[in-house]
Amino acid sequence: NTPVETLEFQAEARQLLQLMVHSIYSNKDTFLRELISNASDALDKLRLETYRDKDLAADTSDLRIELVADRVERTLTVRDNGIGMSRDEVVGLIGTIAKSGTAEFLRKLKESKDAAASQDLIGQFGVGFYSSFMVADHVTLLTRKAGEETGTRWESDGEGTYTIETVDDAPQGTSVILKLKPEDTEDHLYDYTAEWKLREIVTRYSDFITWPVRLEVERKVDDKTTREFETINSMKALWARSKDEVPAEEYTEFYKHISRDWNDPLETIHVKAEGTFEYQALLFLPSKAPYDLFMRERKRGVQLYVKRVFIMEDCEALMPEYLRFVKGVVDAQDLSLNVSREILQQDRQIQLMRRRLVKRVLSTVKTMMADAPEKYATFWSEFGPAVKEGLLSDAENRETILDIASFASTHDAEKPTTLADYVERMPEGQEHIYYMTGASRSIVESSPHLEAFRAKGLEVLILTDAIDEMWVDAGDEYRGKKFQSVAKGEVDLDKDKESDKEQDEEFGPLLTWLSENLTDSVKQVRLSSRLTTSPACLVGEAGDLTPTLEKMYRAMGQ
Ligand code: ADP
Ligand code: MG
Repeated sequence: NTPVETLEFQAEARQLLQLMVHSIYSNKDTFLRELISNASDALDKLRLETYRDKDLAADTSDLRIELVADRVERTLTVRDNGIGMSRDEVVGLIGTIAKSGTAEFLRKLKESKDAAASQDLIGQFGVGFYSSFMVADHVTLLTRKAGEETGTRWESDGEGTYTIETVDDAPQGTSVILKLKPEDTEDHLYDYTAEWKLREIVTRYSDFITWPVRLEVERKVDDKTTREFETINSMKALWARSKDEVPAEEYTEFYKHISRDWNDPLETIHVKAEGTFEYQALLFLPSKAPYDLFMRERKRGVQLYVKRVFIMEDCEALMPEYLRFVKGVVDAQDLSLNVSREILQQDRQIQLMRRRLVKRVLSTVKTMMADAPEKYATFWSEFGPAVKEGLLSDAENRETILDIASFASTHDAEKPTTLADYVERMPEGQEHIYYMTGASRSIVESSPHLEAFRAKGLEVLILTDAIDEMWVDAGDEYRGKKFQSVAKGEVDLDKDKESDKEQDEEFGPLLTWLSENLTDSVKQVRLSSRLTTSPACLVGEAGDLTPTLEKMYRAMGQ
């Protein structure tokens, strides 16, 4: 064995640990879900690795997760015989926080003062392994990576430093040994060495884990005490079971397992396809947009399984970019276990499957709109801006996306409107769907462009998302009605040709004078019917970029 080294946690990791040690969670039981989830990932990785590398010296004969409690020592051990970690990986993965969102998380946590909000935030970010320190005052991690000779022992009490040493006698995989906090041990409810307690937590949070979770139990037979392992999870792939035999909470826990979100999902979607290309999918709409929904490196949340075997996370071939917030699992029967991302992108069956999944997601939202308007409102306010990207990228579903979209409007200051409702309210003779884009509702409302519309009682959609400029600019229409900006071109507010002519003659000299003097700044000066109280306003030409788009393009260097 090499000498023991003492290292410091990276600053951010230290902060996060502080939070765990002085736990602000109300629900500490979840530490076990995190450890089992890591063990399950490690077993998935090992199995995949052995498919890829036939020479890997690893024992895969009995892959499992084991829980061993020691009532005398007050320890709980969670161990797996999965992929394990090299020494460098232990330092890199456990001693630092590589996740890009963590700094952001800590900043937000500082801003939020009350405990409930903090817990909510932790839910959005997930803290994984560190949650051990909610229940333990000392944690030992012993690990050996599959294929490597030596192992690593890591120890910490979560206060700022950890020790690390290379050891010769570590079994393949990872053991996490928790020295339980004394105060919890005295409290019956939080006794993590009690068999009933461990069973309860595993059943609640980890039942669907596809690997056996085995608990070491004590049994008395004829006055002899024996210890043996008993599998305590059902291991049933949730997506393969029929909807009515699975309680809602199981779906919820499964969602939390795959999404690392601690909030309940908003909606669960089952898809089952039989025939030449068989697959099952279990998809979820989250109830909250993740903080990084609009960040470039954002991944997509659908996992691919082949015949119950986990293949990959973030499978971009299964969901288009604009539905990147959808989480879930797709299990296909007829793919090779060696399938790569490149092959998936080109596979015709996969493309068909993706089309079907997209349609199901959109139709679920449509149903929600009709049957559960409040749920729909939550969905749209969280994910609407992302879904609207589909108006540009998914021509096939444009109609449907417009159907499920809603927009702020001058009709109602509080409640957004659907396009169907807008069209329904259109008075006789109105041919266009009027809209105005801008940075915020108040900016749009104070614009002179709106005046005449307001005066005439015409409804105008108020589009304030950056993406709105782009799709609406693409010359869209809805049920035969073209979208028309109130800020662009000639607006056909009841044209009275005769009076126009008179006015043209009357104001002719003024217009000519203005045109000559403003020739460098504007293309044309004309009389307008769109204003009621403002004397003049600037309008773009029908084909022009809006000021916001112009700014965007300029910022992009075009
Ligand atoms: P996350 O699981 O979200 O990545 P964690 O804090 O739970 O975050 O774990 C950090 C990393 O440590 C994991 O991504 C994994 O690479 C590694 N790790 C944790 N537990 C294990 C384990 N039991 N076996 C192998 N690697 C592990
Ligand atoms: Mg984890």
